[in-house]
Amino acid sequence: MNDGLSPLPHEFCARLEQIVPAEALPQVLRSFENVRPASFRVNTLLSGTEESFAELRNGGLAVTDCAWCDVAGTVPAEQRRQLSEHVAVTEGRVYIQGLSSMLAALALAPQPGEAVLDLAAAPGGKTLHLAATMQKQGRLSAVEPVRTRFFKLRENLRRYGADDFVRLYQTDGRDVGRKTPETFDAVLLDAPCTSEARFDCNDPTSWQFWGPRKIAESARKQKALLRSAIDATRVGGRVLYCTCSFAPEENELVVAHTLRRLEGKITLLRIELPVGNIQPGLTQWEGKELPSEVALARRVLPDETMSGFFLALVEKTEPTALTKQKRGRHRE
Ligand code: SAM
Repeated sequence: MNDGLSPLPHEFCARLEQIVPAEALPQVLRSFENVRPASFRVNTLLSGTEESFAELRNGGLAVTDCAWCDVAGTVPAEQRRQLSEHVAVTEGRVYIQGLSSMLAALALAPQPGEAVLDLAAAPGGKTLHLAATMQKQGRLSAVEPVRTRFFKLRENLRRYGADDFVRLYQTDGRDVGRKTPETFDAVLLDAPCTSEARFDCNDPTSWQFWGPRKIAESARKQKALLRSAIDATRVGGRVLYCTCSFAPEENELVVAHTLRRLEGKITLLRIELPVGNIQPGLTQWEGKELPSEVALARRVLPDETMSGFFLALVEKTEPTALTKQKRGRHRE
């Protein structure tokens, strides 16, 4: 339904028509105009919720409470800059974060005392949310291989008061399952992706590298990362896989591939989300049927306040990591 007025790639719009329900398509296409309010989460590691809301309001910001997350709120798009320059943000009491991103920690629900891993962590918004949810009790490890992003992550953890809790590793997430097999109670994999949900009609550079090759390259890495995340999880533990892409190749197909590879060793769990703009995971794509349980995954449809997001929650029921002995046999 690209009427010729949208600057987005024609192929991208044509794919969206196949992905989102017809009645939601106009709203989804409008979402790329990116005039959403700016959203934030109070960093409860450093501040009380009421104090931070009052501090922002006293600073002239027109704060609206988030209906489903009592530590989150929004300000009108025109106040985005004022919010980012506010002392509550620069001093770490408030973190600017998309509302959809906040669903990741809610869905994984790490408990105080658990051993938790964030496998693709920079710049650290979700790591900080996990740390706050765990009330800094237990163990939280965060992995980021890209040097500049790793430094940004370290700086954010320091500024937001979690550097004394989170153990940081600058390494490739694909190796972590082999290095620390069957270890964590909960793993977040907010996978590197084509970031389709971040396309901005006013900024053509936001899709300049997009195309089928980029999607395929992304999907290859995501499959390896998801396998590593599951290998690093103990039996009975859970993995939340999420992306900010609409592409089924990066979402349902990654999950379906992993379900097939690890048949009987993992299962998909239902995700309870506190928002209404939700679509079940697709169970077919380009004429191919996917396992029916992939419908348990969730797609957040973008609207006036939220950007597109994909989430799938996996429970591990049997060991998956290759022991040294098994690895040897695997190579034979
Ligand atoms: N969770 C972060 C947050 O909420 O602030 C955003 C994560 S972003 C979607 C994906 C991250 O994965 C990027 O920082 C990227 O550098 C990192 N990444 C890329 N390749 C990776 C790999 N092989 N292993 C682990 N992380 C990787």
